[in-house]
Amino acid sequence: MLIDLHTHSAVSDGTDTPAELVRAAADAGLDVVALTDHDTTDGWAEALGAAPTGLTVVRGIEMSCEGRGEDGDPVPVHLLAYLFDPEDEVFAAERSRLLGERTERIRLMAERLATDYPMIEPDAILAAIGPSAGRPHLARALVAAGAVANVQAAFDGPLATKSPYYVAKIDTPLERAVAMIRTAGGVSVVAHARARARGRLLDLEHVRELVGHGLGGLEVEHADHDAEDTRILRDLAEELDLIATGSSDYHGDNKTLRLGQHTTAVEQYERLLAQSSGIEV
Ligand code: AMP
Ligand code: FE
Ligand code: FE
Ligand code: ZN
Repeated sequence: MLIDLHTHSAVSDGTDTPAELVRAAADAGLDVVALTDHDTTDGWAEALGAAPTGLTVVRGIEMSCEGRGEDGDPVPVHLLAYLFDPEDEVFAAERSRLLGERTERIRLMAERLATDYPMIEPDAILAAIGPSAGRPHLARALVAAGAVANVQAAFDGPLATKSPYYVAKIDTPLERAVAMIRTAGGVSVVAHARARARGRLLDLEHVRELVGHGLGGLEVEHADHDAEDTRILRDLAEELDLIATGSSDYHGDNKTLRLGQHTTAVEQYERLLAQSSGIEV
C-alpha cells in the first residue's frame, strides 16, 4: 500500500489540476492520495470525480496557522486537516477568512514588486490565480518576466520573508485550528514541523500542549526533514501517541518533489481513518 497524505493542486500553489493530480498519483503507483490545498476544499469534487479505479482520494487541506517558535516568538505553522465536515460553519468561516488574507496579501506583494519590476502586473497575476493565492504564484510571475532565473531564486530574493516586498498574513492560532478541526470531525496533523530551511522552528513544547486540544498527528517523513529531525519527530509522535505520517508535499512543477517520495504506513493511515468522523473516504 502506497499512501501519500499531502499534495497540492493548481487550486492552491501546485501546477496540476485536481484531475491531473489524481491521474498522476495513480500513474505513480499510489493507492491513497490526500489532496491538501492551502486553506481550501475547492479541488475536492474534481479530484473525487476524476479518481481512477483503485485510487482512494482523502479529502484534506493544509491550514495556515501561527504557533510559538523555539525563541518564544510567533512562527508560521502548516496544519494538515483531514476528513472534516466542510459544512461546519465555524471552520468554513475561518477558511474563508484565510483565503481573503491570502489574496489581499499577494495583491499587496504584487503591487510592491511592480514598483521595481514593471513587467509585474498585479491585476493580471491575481486574475490567473485560483481561490488560494500564495507566493509560488508570484515566483512563477517573476520567472516568466525574466526577473529571476527560477522559483528558488525568487524565494531566496524578492519573496523572502526579510525582503521589502514581503507582506505577512494573519494566520489562525494553532490551538484554535486544532480545536476547530476536531469539532468538525476531522483529524489534524502538524506538517513539516522541522523544515529548517523555511526559517525558525516551532517549539516542540507547543506541540505537547496541542495534544490536549485534540491534535491527531505529526508529519514525520518529509523531504525538508533531515535524519535527526525525522528521528526527533518520530520519537515525539510515539511518546505522545500521535499518528505519524509521511508524505511528498507534491506541488507539480513548482517544486521538484515527486508523488510518493515519502509515504505513510498503513497502520498509521488506519488510525487516521478511525479518528475521523466528519466525512468518509
Ligand atoms: P505562502 O504560504 O504564500 O507564504 O508561501 C509559502 C509556500 O511557498 C509554501 O506552501 C511552499 O509550498 C512554497 N515554498 C516555500 N519555499 C519555496 C521554495 N524555495 N520553492 C518553491 N516553493 C516554496
Ligand atoms: Fe505550498
Ligand atoms: Fe506546507
Ligand atoms: Zn504543503
